[in-house]
Amino acid sequence: MTAIFDILVIGSGIAGASVAARLSQSGRRIVLIEGETHPGYHSTGRSAAVWEPAYGPLAIRQLTRASAAFFTAPPTGFTDAALMTPLAILTVAPEERQHRIAEELAAMPDAKQVRISPAEAEARMPVLKKGWTKAALLTEAAGALDVDAIHQGFLKLFKATGGSLVTNATVTALEHQKGLWHATTRQGTFTAPIVVNAAGAWADQLGQMAQAEPIGLKPLRRTALTVAAPSGLDTAGLPMTLDVDEEFYIKPDAGRLLLSPANEDLETPGDTQPDDYDIALCVWRIEEATDLKISKIESKWAGLSSFVADKATVAGWSARAENFFWLAGQGGYGIQTAPALSAFAAAQILGQDLPEVLQSEGFNPADLAPNRAALAV
Ligand SMILES: Cc1cc2nc3c(=O)[nH]c(=O)nc-3n(C[C@H](O)[C@H](O)[C@H](O)COP(=O)(O)OP(=O)(O)OC[C@H]3O[C@@H](n4cnc5c(N)ncnc54)[C@H](O)[C@@H]3O)c2cc1C
Repeated sequence: MTAIFDILVIGSGIAGASVAARLSQSGRRIVLIEGETHPGYHSTGRSAAVWEPAYGPLAIRQLTRASAAFFTAPPTGFTDAALMTPLAILTVAPEERQHRIAEELAAMPDAKQVRISPAEAEARMPVLKKGWTKAALLTEAAGALDVDAIHQGFLKLFKATGGSLVTNATVTALEHQKGLWHATTRQGTFTAPIVVNAAGAWADQLGQMAQAEPIGLKPLRRTALTVAAPSGLDTAGLPMTLDVDEEFYIKPDAGRLLLSPANEDLETPGDTQPDDYDIALCVWRIEEATDLKISKIESKWAGLSSFVADKATVAGWSARAENFFWLAGQGGYGIQTAPALSAFAAAQILGQDLPEVLQSEGFNPADLAPNRAALAV
């Protein structure tokens, strides 16, 4: 069977789902092709669900800020859920790394974070070990995201505007002939003049099939676990607390605590699982900095955050493969940037102007270009 479309979007995590929904709204015939039996099985279903404006390089912070309005006021019919609820973020440093707090503050003058005293940090996060924190930063302007509602909202919008989702259809070959791309899957061949590569950790592999330039994508495993909050600790209103060098983080999570050693272990793309070492490292780092005693783990998982060399996303036309659009390398910020990133990508693909919300941020598309100098491999 061969099915003909205007655009093939490969990968139905948050990147593919969001850009497919935007493109479908233009009236183009879009097919969203997913290798797994359901969308969101990989990184998108495994995140910590945070909107953190003081995170990543400038282009990422711009995309993050430009996504806030969507999360607080999504389009009518997108969802009944609250996509983002307020969350404070407390960044802490122990004695030997206290200078890093001033460096972080200086590196992100656009982020709404303020210095607070160690005593104030301990008052905001009572499980911190007394005296461990020697310097701290606080932002009240972050948010906790409902990732499933965001992802399902984009998929619903996509289907409502006539988009076709095909699952269990790993693309095993991608060929360009006479102006058309042909994607081979076990569900048949899908053909269109344009391909969007939203294949997450597999994006470089898909690029290789299309003979596009490599972007040097590195899939890094990050592990997370949940534990019951200690009795007597009210998690409502607690800040997410992270080490200034991301040695660990603790996020209040509906009466529980979500913990991570914030590890970044290089892997090949796949269904990554938590390692015993990651769990032990997480427990050790968090017990060093806090009074928490972690004896019972309620759930644990790992996921891949895929980064390129300069840690900004890659979104733009391939310089080598015709009508092949990269949407990859979302690293640890693919959910929080999805509304603005998908609007940007769809505008590029459809030949439209930069969305106004990004113009007002001073966003420069060259910062995400697949052929930028920083990505030369
Ligand atoms: C532990 C952890 C915590 C995180 N916390 C946050 C956070 O708090 N906030 C935030 O914004 N981000 C966070 N992230 C990052 C975020 O999860 C990712 O940036 C985002 O999910 C990437 O989305 P994606 O659509 O690119 O990838 P994925 O969700 O992995 O989707 C890619 C899809 O492509 C499919 N695919 C691949 N190859 C093919 C092929 N050949 N044919 C067909 N389909 C294919 C895969 O099956 C997959 O479904 C976190 C990540 C991890 C691991």
